[in-house]
Amino acid sequence: MKQQDAALVCFSGGQDSTTCLFWAKKHFSRVEAVCFTYGQKHSLEIEVARKIAADAGVPFQLLDVSLISQLDPNCSLTNTSIAMDQEKPDDSYPNTFVPGRNMVFLTFAAILARGKGIYHLVTGISEADYSGYPDCRDTFVRSLNVTLNLAMDEGFVIHTPLMDRDKSEVWELSDELGVFDLVRTQTLTCYNGVVAEGCGHCPACKLRKEGLEKYLRRKKEKQK
Ligand code: ZN
Repeated sequence: MKQQDAALVCFSGGQDSTTCLFWAKKHFSRVEAVCFTYGQKHSLEIEVARKIAADAGVPFQLLDVSLISQLDPNCSLTNTSIAMDQEKPDDSYPNTFVPGRNMVFLTFAAILARGKGIYHLVTGISEADYSGYPDCRDTFVRSLNVTLNLAMDEGFVIHTPLMDRDKSEVWELSDELGVFDLVRTQTLTCYNGVVAEGCGHCPACKLRKEGLEKYLRRKKEKQK
């Protein structure tokens, strides 16, 4: 039976998807989480995600899609012998880009959800920040949504609550949802696998820290 009030969240235990998990809990009465493992360097990420979901009372499922790491040897997230790009190269994407990742994740999420009678999918994809990855763009998500519906003759709806939010606005949303401290102290965004504040110098940590400082400055201004 189709459940209109149920959602499946693509969940990694990072700042963005944790915010999405609680956004989904606010908007749907039944929420489940799917976490993908694909040979990324830090399996701690999975344990962090599992714990946050358990604490939130959200059923958690791990899907192994590590096949994806066998397809492109040039990705620094899955090939440990490659140094991570700290900046975006002028003529291409940084080597932290995993080609096709969001397409694979959302496609598997949709198949999994369908089996559970769930047709709302939630993802933390955002085009406001990051390195301009092509599969973080709204147009890609809309296109895939149509494709999934055509592929399975269904009415999936992909929700992207963070699409237009920069990192400071993601912090703001977590505050509105009452999980600012949880996101700040329990999530793992760092490419070097350090929970909460992270290593402080990888691109993900820089983005997270800059967003946090910007949000806290804005909040302080408002309170004056
Ligand atoms: Zn870091």
